[in-house]
Amino acid sequence: MSLVVLLVLAVLSTLAAGAGKDYYKILGVSRDASQQEIKRQYKSLSRKHHPDKNPGDEKAHERFIELAEAYEVLSDDEKREIYNRYGEDGLKNQGPNGGAPFHDPFDLFAQFFGGNVRFDRRGGARAKPRGPDAHIHLPVTLHELYSGTEIDIDISRQTTCPHCDGSGAASPDDIETCSTCGGSGVRVVKQMLGPGIVQQMQSKCEECSGKGKKVAKPCPHCKGTRITREPDMLAVRIEPGMNDGEEIIFEDEADQHPDYEPGSLVFHLQQQPHKTYERHGDDLHAHVTITLLDALIGFNRTLAHVDGKTQVELHRQNVTPPGFVQRLPRKGMPHRHRSGSAKYGDLLVTYWVQFPVSVDAEAKKQFAAVLGQAQNILWDDVDRQKQVKAPSIHDEL
Ligand SMILES: [Zn+2]
Ligand SMILES: [Zn+2]
Repeated sequence: MSLVVLLVLAVLSTLAAGAGKDYYKILGVSRDASQQEIKRQYKSLSRKHHPDKNPGDEKAHERFIELAEAYEVLSDDEKREIYNRYGEDGLKNQGPNGGAPFHDPFDLFAQFFGGNVRFDRRGGARAKPRGPDAHIHLPVTLHELYSGTEIDIDISRQTTCPHCDGSGAASPDDIETCSTCGGSGVRVVKQMLGPGIVQQMQSKCEECSGKGKKVAKPCPHCKGTRITREPDMLAVRIEPGMNDGEEIIFEDEADQHPDYEPGSLVFHLQQQPHKTYERHGDDLHAHVTITLLDALIGFNRTLAHVDGKTQVELHRQNVTPPGFVQRLPRKGMPHRHRSGSAKYGDLLVTYWVQFPVSVDAEAKKQFAAVLGQAQNILWDDVDRQKQVKAPSIHDEL
């Protein structure tokens, strides 16, 4: 009788699951897929369908959101169980507001591909203590910070041994109760101090390191250490305008250990020096050397931007004294999270003037004739000081 009821329930639950979205199909995994498979599929598919990689493609955007939903449900044992039994509808009342149970798909993506958001999938209490975060310095060029990019990084990560599932034993039968402490993990030592006085001391059982259990035959894969090292690949996304020292966080991607929830893998961006440009916030600073003739009569020239290819046009129509600073609006670094005309910082070019080593007698006469008349419009020191500090005032000269 009860078997019939179970069968009916099984049919009903299959029907219920079939009514909504098929998260297994969306991720392209079987119903008994392991957590690792689910994670791997999500990582590869969400990268492929990310809206940044498919601009203007509404289908890819929808797929990206679906993938995040599917991953969020199937990666959580509790949600997966509810989904398996009652389908999508069963999850409807699970959310923090009683509605959609899902987080921002971009936050979820950032969990795997780096972001600044700390994302707690378990919504609070963890069953095990959290392991340490791993910190890694990641050198990046100014060009990469300007344009944004994706950097593939091969990492070797400590993982819980998949062969023994972290027990360290060749098979579950090889785990025995410690005979020294009887499974309690502690040893009690009694000492007679005097007639009728007994001191009782407790210490950790040395035989089993306080675990109460012993492994009779160690796992051949990890040699009983419970952990192995596995190679993995991470893609670190550098957003345009990211800053020196900025952190990119991969939640739960640090070393695994059977006794700990893995900590985060944190990349610290290290901006490398550029041969032409210095960065001050979102502004770029550069020094350009011009000839004395250019300094006097003006010039048109170009300066390669941080990518080494794009040319910035530099125009001066009149006199450019040494130390003059020209501000080129919106030719600096991109602002993070800003759009429109305020999207970029400025480029400030400081000019240095190259003087001739010597001037011959004839040229001296001509200089005297020409520059003698121009004396009343010479930039004096005070004026120069002022315009170095506030270059924009003189930009149009
Ligand atoms: Zn013991
Ligand atoms: Zn093992």
